Amino acid sequence: MAKFKVKIDKERCKGCKLCVIFCPKQALQESKKINKKGIYFVELKNPDLCIGCSTCAVICPECAIEILKND
Ligand code: SF4
Ligand code: SF4
Repeated sequence: MAKFKVKIDKERCKGCKLCVIFCPKQALQESKKINKKGIYFVELKNPDLCIGCSTCAVICPECAIEILKND
C-alpha cells in the first residue's frame, strides 16, 4: 500500500499545473476529465511514487491538495 494519500479536490482545482510541475516524483498528472468549471483537473498518476513531501499542497494556490499518511 502507498505510504501517503493525496487528496485532491477536483472542483477547487483551476488547472494551473503548478503541482504537476513542482512534484519531485512526477506523481501527478492532468486528468482527461473535466470538473464542473470545465477545467482539466489534476489527479494522482501513481500513488506509489508519492514521498509525502507536501510540495504540491503548499504550492497549490487553491488549497485543493491535502497529504495524509496511510498507516
Ligand atoms: S496547483 Fe492546485 S489548482 Fe493548480 S493544478 Fe494543482 S491542484 Fe489544481
Ligand atoms: S506530496 Fe510531494 S511527492 Fe507526493 S504528490 Fe505531492 S509533491 Fe508529489
